[in-house]
Amino acid sequence: MSQNRIYNFNAGPATLPLPVLEEIQESFLNYKSSGMSITEVSHRSPWFDDVINDAIARTKRLLGLDDKFTVLFLQGGASMQFAMIPMNFLGDGDSADYVNTGTWSTKAIKEAKILGKSHNVVASSEDRNFAYIPKDIAFNKDAVYAHITSNNTIKGTQWAQFPETGGVPIISDMSSDFMSRPLDVEKFGMIYAGAQKNIGPAGVCMVIIREDMLKRCPDTLPSMLNYKTYADKNSMYNTPPCFSIYCIQLVMKWLEETVGGLDAMEKRNREKAGLLYDFMDATDFYNATADKDSRSLMNVTFRLPTEDLEQQFIKAAAEKGMGGLKGHRSVGGCRASIYNAMPVEGIQTLVEFMKEFEKKNG
Ligand SMILES: *Cc1c(COP(=O)(O)O)cnc(C)c1O
Repeated sequence: MSQNRIYNFNAGPATLPLPVLEEIQESFLNYKSSGMSITEVSHRSPWFDDVINDAIARTKRLLGLDDKFTVLFLQGGASMQFAMIPMNFLGDGDSADYVNTGTWSTKAIKEAKILGKSHNVVASSEDRNFAYIPKDIAFNKDAVYAHITSNNTIKGTQWAQFPETGGVPIISDMSSDFMSRPLDVEKFGMIYAGAQKNIGPAGVCMVIIREDMLKRCPDTLPSMLNYKTYADKNSMYNTPPCFSIYCIQLVMKWLEETVGGLDAMEKRNREKAGLLYDFMDATDFYNATADKDSRSLMNVTFRLPTEDLEQQFIKAAAEKGMGGLKGHRSVGGCRASIYNAMPVEGIQTLVEFMKEFEKKNG
């Protein structure tokens, strides 16, 4: 690793590709001979127009999105989407289905409830502390959408396949696995992702919305809470989070030109997660907390024999240049977030360290 950088296993904000950070640094003071930093140029300038349009075009190419889909940039994080979704899509007499697979799903459901919108929780894995993804779910045929969380950042589970909904559009919170694998986009009415896990810095949430969903947005909503406002103005009704969008553009460029697309990205991610899970499956010292068929390729959650050992482990790892291995405060234990930008060398280094730590303490 160059410049004394650590292997950063934090869940979010999280590690970004080094070539992206270097490009940002290189062009920071004088963006494309404008004489200004990208943080100083007007969002109404041709420079920024190129940035946002290229970020959108690359996203569409990577996912294979056609013109039915519009790519938007919003503020307020994924958490604001929890409220905007029922506000925009559920009118009088409408209802939506939700699957509860952890902390973030629970928060999404809470907002539908606060807004007094009709909704059904059609499946939940709460009975076993969200250690698995529910199967064989019966969705309601007349639901306007089926909301799921594709990757459960805190509990370390992920939908390996998306559920069969009988034609009900899926809305997925993909904050922590967006752009980690190719998608069958036809199933989705909307996809959203807070950028700070897998595609950029904090401050922006990407929303991909299908035209039939966009048509549902009522004119009675405040402008800034209506998806239509963003769609009509190419996400520039007001000042967008320019710098975060610029960073996303560079991450998408890295995915296309350096990684070679989402098939290649998925292959890398499978290899990385495989190294870690295979190692843990071969020892009793480390125990992955999620059911095998529900394991996340992005957030690997695990326990050691005692909490005391877990604390020692996290501390000793940090001293060796591996940061952010503490589990979420709500669940404890350990978690290695191994997003797109984590190189395979980071996992190899971690596994070597885990072996050593077990030898000393097991
Ligand atoms: C981090 C996270 C969120 C919350 O994102 P904010 O941008 O902080 O609002 C929501 N959903 C998932 C799956 C997450 O990982």
